[in-house]
Amino acid sequence: MFDSIKDQLKKAKKIAFVTGAGISQESGIPTFRGNDGLWRNYDPMKLATIDAFYDNPKLVWEWYNERRQNIFAAEPNLGHKAIAELENFSEVIVLTQNIDGLHQIAGSSKVLELHGSIVKIKCTVCNYKEEILTEFSDMPPLCKCGNILRPDVVWFGEGLPQDVWEEAIIHANSCDVMIIAGTSLVVSPANTLPIYAKQNNAILIEINPDETNMTEDMDLSIRTTSATALPELVSMFKNN
Ligand code: NAD
Repeated sequence: MFDSIKDQLKKAKKIAFVTGAGISQESGIPTFRGNDGLWRNYDPMKLATIDAFYDNPKLVWEWYNERRQNIFAAEPNLGHKAIAELENFSEVIVLTQNIDGLHQIAGSSKVLELHGSIVKIKCTVCNYKEEILTEFSDMPPLCKCGNILRPDVVWFGEGLPQDVWEEAIIHANSCDVMIIAGTSLVVSPANTLPIYAKQNNAILIEINPDETNMTEDMDLSIRTTSATALPELVSMFKNN
């Protein structure tokens, strides 16, 4: 799979991964845009917005409660594990759009969560923030201050945490190789990270069964799943 750029890959001092929902699909977590994307006939793309939340916080919280259960029961797959193992051979940074925490559970030590984390919640009004691993019984859950709590994730139309985004750009600007796995690259601004990497003359590789918005800009497109392709990438480093 990686034969055509094997030497360049092995010479790389820093490898950045940009990951999306597709990398967790083989852990049983549905993507938003795939065939399995609907939830109770609602379009998740329309539920993951601040407007949907204020229109019907109970509904959006019921969806997040189910996602929390599903994600807490999920385990990292061979793709997440391969990225973690690659740290033994190269400097690796993971820039993820996922909120599921599976990269960290797999053992990756440098993960920037661009869209927050499903474990974290915050108050819509005061500064209260917490990590909670249990389900909520009252829908929507309320803060001690009396206002509604919300998942500490970035919804469509909201800005990314500035500090996380600035750090992500620094890594995108300084990597030798960027591997883009399991993302359709339609969500902005995460989809601009490959452009920063290209400006630094990094090699761009995408791993995705389907074409993406940036397929034409890739040096290599691997048309298979991440749990198939990523272990092969690591085995190339092992079999020096
Ligand atoms: P997306 O749903 O737009 O795209 C998923 C991509 O993954 C598609 O291009 C698809 O072809 C590809 N894919 C599907 N199965 C794959 C596999 N096994 N291996 C490799 N690729 C595979 O997801 P996105 O680009 O991440 O953007 C959607 C937004 O949804 C993000 O903002 C993200 O925060 C959020 N999201 C996160 C999770 C999660 O945390 N697991 C799940 C759903 C959505």
